Amino acid sequence: MAQEDIFKKLVAHCKEYGYVFPSSEIYDGLGAVYDYGQMGVELKNNIKKYWWNSMVLLHENVVGIDSAIFMHPKVWKASGHVDAFSDPLIDNKDSKKRYRADVLIEDFILKIEGKIEKEVKKASKKFGDSFNKEEFISTNKRVLSYNEKIQIITDRFSKALNDEDFDDVRNIIIENNICCPISGTCNWTDVRQFNLMFSTEMGSTADGANTIYLRPETAQGIFVNYLNVQKTGRMKLPFGIAQIGKAFRNEIVARQFIFRMREFEQMEMQFFVKPGTEMDFFNKWKQTRMNWHQALGFGEDNYRFHDHEKLAHYANAATDIEYRFPFGFKEVEGIHSRTDFDLSQHQEFSGKKIQYFDPERNESYVPYVVETSIGVDRMFLQIMSAAYCEEDLTKEGGKKDSRVVLKLPAALAPVKLAVMPLTKKDGLPEKAREIINNLKFDFNCQYDEKDSIGKRYRRQDAIGTPYCVTIDHETLEDNTVTIRNRDTMEQERVAIDKLYEILKENTDLKSLLLKV
Ligand code: ATP
Repeated sequence: MAQEDIFKKLVAHCKEYGYVFPSSEIYDGLGAVYDYGQMGVELKNNIKKYWWNSMVLLHENVVGIDSAIFMHPKVWKASGHVDAFSDPLIDNKDSKKRYRADVLIEDFILKIEGKIEKEVKKASKKFGDSFNKEEFISTNKRVLSYNEKIQIITDRFSKALNDEDFDDVRNIIIENNICCPISGTCNWTDVRQFNLMFSTEMGSTADGANTIYLRPETAQGIFVNYLNVQKTGRMKLPFGIAQIGKAFRNEIVARQFIFRMREFEQMEMQFFVKPGTEMDFFNKWKQTRMNWHQALGFGEDNYRFHDHEKLAHYANAATDIEYRFPFGFKEVEGIHSRTDFDLSQHQEFSGKKIQYFDPERNESYVPYVVETSIGVDRMFLQIMSAAYCEEDLTKEGGKKDSRVVLKLPAALAPVKLAVMPLTKKDGLPEKAREIINNLKFDFNCQYDEKDSIGKRYRRQDAIGTPYCVTIDHETLEDNTVTIRNRDTMEQERVAIDKLYEILKENTDLKSLLLKV
């Protein structure tokens, strides 16, 4: 099945099983804003807990905060967001559709990369075992010319963005015949800059209202609290401050479900270090964060680093962790070495000294910062795309059978255990409730007595419940139950007393955290 169709099915599945709903759906929704349902909120909370514990519990020099969404307007002047947090937009005059000029160009490059992949696949089929991919890429004329084209466009595009030469950004689009997917024409307007911050007013107008912004990132709440935390926590460099919270961006083009939203959540950590040591910490955090992703078991080949060649003027290193979504490799997390830019800017704009007294060097300086920044929602989508599975269960010569199963990492699954009495009588429901009442303090359990056992299994598979237990008449006699594993569908008879241990060992966050 085409990846696009799988993605459509995933979006429908998220809605059907209470993971994600369009916001204000009864009013036909609101662009790029989504609500999490009864299952979604559990998965989201588990993702946040996995991140928080890996940062704050596992590192004695990382602490957390929770800063306000509203901040003093000067914060966004100092951070550069008022002047420079914008995207280049362009309109197609025929379809009247609006696009991000940079995304049009990036998608065009992706298309060329797709052509290269096709050539490689074709050649690999033709030459079989003797195929040498590296050699093919470095010698095949067609591939070489595709790569050259990509390089020329990338260099020119980066230069145009750096120089804020938006006429040239438009020229790149026109010269490469990049058309609007709706109208199919190249009838484009000029490229304009569009600031992504939402603004609102604080205080009544009579009092002289102040324009304030909904924060477009959580990081600035950490920077402005650097001194508070360092002093009250008596923190010594190197140390980190972690935060999870909402961020808002008036994205021009909202696409791909919860991949790009206007209201979303971030998990950010700023790690403050001595100047000169930042590259060591940058490399350390790169690895730690990649381990965090790979511990989920979705396959190492599905992740890659994308190092930034062109850096923002204040950064001295930056990379993205990308995941292979159904629509291609895309950023899930950014890791940036931001020098002393942010703290120095706040020092200048606030007039307050924001420094660290280093007892070893006997001097004060503005610390350098390495940040890790990941979107909760994008991570949610990454996990759901990796977990969504359609399995054909038809046995040879048998009736057609299939199931949709969410192969979520057990530690992140919303429901850990479904408890199902075989019938609604003979004391079986009471026994089921008794099991839940013992386990519910530690694990999210669900009671299910409706429909056949087979149907109930399918329902639990569809929401990703790792274990189901069935209570039958034998249970009443010997206190054993049948436990079924979501992935293998194997069933086993175990003592009720063993359930806690099984769940603890296989569904606890600790099993993931040990791998980070
Ligand atoms: P992109 O290039 O995709 O717009 P970005 O480089 O602007 O992302 P950052 O500012 O580095 O993103 O934000 C850090 C993380 O926050 C991203 O890696 C992503 O996971 C998440 N994120 C950013 N913008 C959005 C959004 N509009 N919706 C959902 N998640 C987002």
